[in-house]
Amino acid sequence: MFLSVKGLAKAFGELEVLKHIDLTIKKGNIVTIIGPSGSGKTTLLRCLNALEIPNKGVFSFEDGFTVDFEQKVSKNKIAELRRKSGMVFQAYHLFPHKTALENVTEGPIIVQKRTKQEVIPFAESLLQKVGLEDKMDLYPHQLSGGQQQRVGIARALAIQPELMLFDEPTSALDPELVGEVLKVIKDLAKEGWTMAIVTHELKFAEQVSDIVLFMENGYVVEQGPPEQVLKNPKEERTRQFIQRII
Ligand code: ADP
Repeated sequence: MFLSVKGLAKAFGELEVLKHIDLTIKKGNIVTIIGPSGSGKTTLLRCLNALEIPNKGVFSFEDGFTVDFEQKVSKNKIAELRRKSGMVFQAYHLFPHKTALENVTEGPIIVQKRTKQEVIPFAESLLQKVGLEDKMDLYPHQLSGGQQQRVGIARALAIQPELMLFDEPTSALDPELVGEVLKVIKDLAKEGWTMAIVTHELKFAEQVSDIVLFMENGYVVEQGPPEQVLKNPKEERTRQFIQRII
């Protein structure tokens, strides 16, 4: 077990977006999160790295680090929770006036206070890993959407997280650019990264997932291996969703 989350709840004002989520992520596992728009998938991911602060929920990591959001949680604990995961956003969020390389070195230099000298070769190796060794000195506007998203992945990897979170990483891309980003994620899967991925790409989910989690209306309706959830769901609501999307 890498992470266990119990009783996660999050409301925005009156709107209860996550009602009661239990989930476990095993080390080296890939959990994909599917479900209709508005079901709370992005909010769940954002809660996992404390971009949103849950109202309730106990997070327990295998290294013994625990956060209980029903108690008052210190800034240090929030910072530690954030450090554990790297987030890849739908719309890249790259710094427009920094090169691909500078986008990747920014986190380690600013957040982790590592030296430029040490970080540059590491950042170069990450850009190489995502197939952008010849684009390191280009600015975001000089890159395609798929290339920008690959910089986004390298940037998330640069803080050396234990968990990688992807929020619909291909949804902003033209269809012909989706494959190159999914390939990078598949390569990370082969390397044994622990990942949680919100996606509408069911075929991709089927190929990479250890566990697929189907969410609706702030709850996890069904979770299990892809052969179950995607091919032979136990729950009628999962079945209906999958029929609609394929
Ligand atoms: P999904 O990713 O499944 O489409 P989201 O987690 O993005 O769902 O959103 C779930 C619900 O929470 C939606 O109704 C959305 O409008 C609402 N919501 C998300 N973020 C906020 C926010 N910061 N403030 C208010 N409502 C929000």
